[in-house]
Order: sequence, then structure tokens, then C-alpha cells
Amino acid sequence: MQQPLSTSSGAMAGPQPGTFRVEDAREMMITGLRNAHGLEQQAIEMLERNAERLEHYPQLKARIAQHLEESRQQQTMVAQALTDLGESPSTIKDTVMGMAQNVQMMMHAAASDEVLKNSFAGYAFEHFEIASYKALMVMARAAGESRVEQVAQQILRQEEEMASWLGQHLPEIVSQHLVLMGSGEQKR
Ligand code: MG
Ligand code: FE
Repeated sequence: MQQPLSTSSGAMAGPQPGTFRVEDAREMMITGLRNAHGLEQQAIEMLERNAERLEHYPQLKARIAQHLEESRQQQTMVAQALTDLGESPSTIKDTVMGMAQNVQMMMHAAASDEVLKNSFAGYAFEHFEIASYKALMVMARAAGESRVEQVAQQILRQEEEMASWLGQHLPEIVSQHLVLMGSGEQKR
């Protein structure tokens, strides 16, 4: 008997006990952790590339540097969670993530409006991470792995903060881009 997910509990919703197999939840959770490890690898590489530039956008540069450090810690936490589950770190295979890969391909280093395109792509990437960690929380809860659920929740908060920061600062970034165009600091 399938029961609809409760909407009142929002992010905490999960399948009713007895309606699924715990070993399936555990398998999904481990796959989710492996995907998260690969996702953080992409995040780190993307943020590293962006942190090198952006000399005309000091606030954005600083926020990216902060999230780069957070992403490195997130990847370490995910790797530790896998190790704790008996998955050797050497077997952590960074799964190719189609959607995240596409987001990365949106990054245009050569374009004059690269800061805008990279901001849009970064915003999309953070939301991909948000969806991934929300899903991981449900899987971990269903698998009865409260430690993994806590890790996913902690990381989720940082992704939400980064997404929200980018959303709030986008108007300033666009404005700064316009000013730089006028000053000739940035070619058209
Ligand atoms: Mg992340
Ligand atoms: Fe992130």
C-alpha cells in the first residue's frame, strides 16, 4: 500500500517504515554519497578557476574563496562518511554527473561577460547540490543512518547559504559589470 509523502513535514518527509527495503535505501544512500563526492570535486575545480580571477569583484571573489574552503571540507566529510560505512576511499569512484557537467560547460572563460555566465552557472550548480543533499538526507533517514543524515544536513545548509548569497548579490555583480564596461576595464 503506497502512502503519499507528508507535505507538512517538508524536507523531513520520507517513506513510511515497512513500505520499502532498508537495504535498498542503504544502497541508494551509498550511491548518493559517491555522487556527492564527485559533485564536490567538480565544485572545487570550478571554484578554484573562478577564485583566480575576479580581481574587479572583490566581494564575489572572497565569497567564492570561502565556499571553496567549505567545499573541500564537505568532500572530506563525504569521504569520511563512506569510510565509516566500510567503503574504502580508494574505491570512491567519481561518477560523471550529467547535469552538473552541463552546468560546468556553461562556464565561458573567454567571454567578456564571463562573470555573469559563471554567476548563473554557479547559482544553478548550488541548486543542483541542494537537491542532491536533500535527497541524500531522505535516503540516510530511510537507511537509519542518522550520522549521514546529519552530515548531509550540515552541507545542505552551506549550499543554501551560497545559493542565497549569489541570488542576493547578482544585481550588484551585473551593475559592477556595467560600470567596468564603461570604464574600459572590461572589453565589450
Ligand atoms: Mg558543495
Ligand atoms: Fe556548493
